[in-house]
Amino acid sequence: MKFETRAVHAGRTADPATGAVAQPIYLSTTFEREADGSFPAGYVYSRSANPNRAALETCMSSLEEGASAIAFASGSAATMSVFQALSPGAHVIAPEDVYYGTKLQLQDIFARWGLQASFIDMSDLEALKAACRPNTELVWIETPSNPLLKITDISAVAAIAHEAGARVVVDNTWATPLLQSPFELGADLIMHSSTKYLGGHSDVLGGVLVAKVEDDFTRSIRALQGAGGAVPSPFDCWLVLRGIQTLPWRMRAHSDNAGRVAQFLQEHPRVERVFYPGLPEHPGHEIAAGQMKGFGGMLSVQITGGADAAMSVAARVQIFTRATSLGGTESLLEHRASIEGPASKTPPNLLRVSVGLEHADDLIADLEQALR
Ligand SMILES: *Cc1c(COP(=O)(O)O)cnc(C)c1O
Repeated sequence: MKFETRAVHAGRTADPATGAVAQPIYLSTTFEREADGSFPAGYVYSRSANPNRAALETCMSSLEEGASAIAFASGSAATMSVFQALSPGAHVIAPEDVYYGTKLQLQDIFARWGLQASFIDMSDLEALKAACRPNTELVWIETPSNPLLKITDISAVAAIAHEAGARVVVDNTWATPLLQSPFELGADLIMHSSTKYLGGHSDVLGGVLVAKVEDDFTRSIRALQGAGGAVPSPFDCWLVLRGIQTLPWRMRAHSDNAGRVAQFLQEHPRVERVFYPGLPEHPGHEIAAGQMKGFGGMLSVQITGGADAAMSVAARVQIFTRATSLGGTESLLEHRASIEGPASKTPPNLLRVSVGLEHADDLIADLEQALR
């Protein structure tokens, strides 16, 4: 079946007890045994498995066309479990502009336990080859990246990583399963922060891992989660699954709106540079056009006149909300360097924009008055 149909139906059936079309939220932490000691529905205790989590996992596995999925309490918990499943002393290669929380985990948490990490420019394939070591177990990809929307060639990186005997994980949060299919391009594992487009309404935290094959590595992540307990609540799973039903329609609208906003900004005299992979001038445009089905809802813009000019644009917007995060129905805008702190390498005049589902004309009019 097509993506839209799977987004609505995968993991969802009418409730057998009541006929309810929307799945009930199973708050029960524990499930009854039969007299013979068996569990006929397969559920024992909600840390191990819960019907709402199972529904979400079935749907995500279907959307990414993987073998199985594991839902987590946040994207960061999903990432953490991947690193925990590696061998002691293993080596990981990650992009230098990887999501800051992912970098923080590698540098501040796992380094103390002997995990080695190299941070490289993932668009430089020679640098990737040079970074591979005999103990390299994992290559982490995030594309498009934050905040400069850099594009990584997933197939090319996967080929080099596999040659070196490493697994490839793609953080597919910004692209979503609609716009990018990492398994078709050679990835072994896909990670999502479902806090963003999957949930889609800025009202639930979550994370999901999808595995291409159910192997020992996948089973060890599942075991780590079962023992470690980083599970999402039944209500969180219910909200994410509810959001996913409209994902394909929202993503097309986010992409259309972002394309229009990017074009407007690109032509504005007070704008120095726009970073959006849909623009032909974007350095990753060709690769993005080849590996994505749309360019997504995220863009960044450098305002002429430095940090103060960028801050004053941020101060004057009325429809955009000044807030971090992304992927909700409402448009968000943030001054990235302030969020990242003094060590930030982000240009001080850069604003990051999550283009929402308002009418593009209104968003453009708002930016126009803020730039005046
Ligand atoms: C938000 C985000 C994460 C972290 O997810 P949380 O749900 O906030 O823990 C990881 N990667 C990317 C690309 C993100 O945008």
